[in-house]
Amino acid sequence: MQEVCFLIGRGGAVLHADASDSPAALPDTRARWEAIWAHREELEVIAHSHPVGPSAFSAEDESTMSAIDSALGRAVRYCVVAPRTTIARTGDGPTETVTPEPWWAHLLRLASGMHGRR
Ligand SMILES: [Zn+2]
Repeated sequence: MQEVCFLIGRGGAVLHADASDSPAALPDTRARWEAIWAHREELEVIAHSHPVGPSAFSAEDESTMSAIDSALGRAVRYCVVAPRTTIARTGDGPTETVTPEPWWAHLLRLASGMHGRR
């Protein structure tokens, strides 16, 4: 399994995707940052998977999220796709469970290796 990151634009379009080689980490990469910057006008959601949970933002996630928001000058919506739920947060708002899940949540689980292990 691996953590996977999607950049999502208007209409649920996947603008960029990349994967780590770990089920529990997704290091910042220059390539992802360049994709965020290149797509900054149309970027709506930054989503990543937690193939082994939890369905929560990690402390590292939170520092990355605030760094991206301050670099872009606006609050992006962030999602974590865990095995059973997708959560989201925008800016300092509450963390909410997303129902129904966006179409790409299934794709993110599939790319992360979350299917086929039940
Ligand atoms: Zn995370």
